[in-house]
Amino acid sequence: MIIMLYYEKRKEDLFSSHGHHMIRKPRGTADILPEEAATWQYIEAKAREVACRYGFGEIRVPTFEVTELFSRGVGDTTDVVQKEMYTFTDREGRSLTLRPEGTASVARALIENGRCSDPMPLKLFYIINCFRYEKPQAGRSREFYQFGCEMYGASSPAADANIIAMASAFIRELGIENVTLHINSIGCPECRPAYREALKNYFKEHEAELCDTCRQRLESNPLRILDCKSPVCSEIAKDAPKSIDHLCPDCDAHMKSLTAQLDAMGIDYVIDTNIVRGLDYYTRTVFEFICPVIGAQSTICGGGRYDGLMKELGGPELPGIGFAMGLSRLILAMNECSKTITANNSPELYIAPMGDAAVTKASAICEGLRREGIKAESDLVGRSLKAQMKYADKIGAHYTLILGDSELESGVAQLKDMTNSTQREVRIDEIAAELTK
Ligand code: ATP
Ligand code: MG
Repeated sequence: MIIMLYYEKRKEDLFSSHGHHMIRKPRGTADILPEEAATWQYIEAKAREVACRYGFGEIRVPTFEVTELFSRGVGDTTDVVQKEMYTFTDREGRSLTLRPEGTASVARALIENGRCSDPMPLKLFYIINCFRYEKPQAGRSREFYQFGCEMYGASSPAADANIIAMASAFIRELGIENVTLHINSIGCPECRPAYREALKNYFKEHEAELCDTCRQRLESNPLRILDCKSPVCSEIAKDAPKSIDHLCPDCDAHMKSLTAQLDAMGIDYVIDTNIVRGLDYYTRTVFEFICPVIGAQSTICGGGRYDGLMKELGGPELPGIGFAMGLSRLILAMNECSKTITANNSPELYIAPMGDAAVTKASAICEGLRREGIKAESDLVGRSLKAQMKYADKIGAHYTLILGDSELESGVAQLKDMTNSTQREVRIDEIAAELTK
């Protein structure tokens, strides 16, 4: 039975109706067809509008970068660099990588384009596709889309509060509810070493119980164990020392000021001591917006402060803070909140021509209308008049106009309003004016 099913599946895979085998998209990628693209367009337009309102300018960076940018900028000990990158050598033997995220590229671009001496803060946003070799599941794919924001040159807690407020506004304005903002502070190079030691000592006591990956992390990056999703490790992590209890006075004051500002802005949050973020360059503030109703991949936005990144990438010492959101997870969250966006590409006018002369006239009228910014369609496939009217109805045309020899001769035709089945006589050459009045 299983063999039969397998054979049927293979057959389907191997032969399309033309006998050539059908090619499928790579695992973990998606086709976005027009009906669904409407939602993506809506989200992207909203992202641009909100980012602009909060004073961010759009930056567009290359889809691939030299691999070293990510090994340095994202961090050698992260899952992203260790197991998730799409790395290849080009024809000249250079190691290149499809971007797994946007932050490192933006930092590189600012350094490379001499923008680090512009008036501060630098405020950039991007909407990009990213690539990570992960196990595809709901809310996790190999090609995915991120809306991200970066602010450089502002180390104040107010900068953190501004960034968080913007992420929060964007999510709210998409109509997504049931989202909780989780924040934490993971300290700075001043206080982190002592915390790291405390963490290491704690996990050392549980070394035998930790998963293989976390046992390795014990030396390389014990903070990451807090992030581990394995049930045993996360159970052990519950009682681990908390970074928030090990902050130096400056980090502590930063966190207190941030929470006071969020309070003043009316932005709710919970302090979540297990949030560490997967990436090495984070300092102080880390945060996530979590929407539990969308399932296991419930983090719709992750962000934080990365004061060490610019320097790491060979730039000046400029503090940075930002976030990135996964667009597909935002869509899942919007769906959960019954927030649906429908594509509307219905024409204002459908012209049904009968005969060659009418086809030519219909094309000319359509083109004229389109140049005026009016959506118009006419027959391109040679349907009968009856089939054309059915088609016009199906595509939701507001008006229809039948063009035959007598209409061409008299220069007048019947403009039918499909919404109420009334019709009126119009001069063919004045149709644009008719439709806009
Ligand atoms: P996760 O814990 O879900 O793997 P992450 O820590 O790897 O997330 P970041 O690198 O901070 O994620 O990326 C920011 C956001 O991008 C995430 O919060 C998520 O919304 C989205 N994202 C990350 N990886 C994927 C993916 N493979 N598919 C879809 N969205 C993703
Ligand atoms: Mg990940």
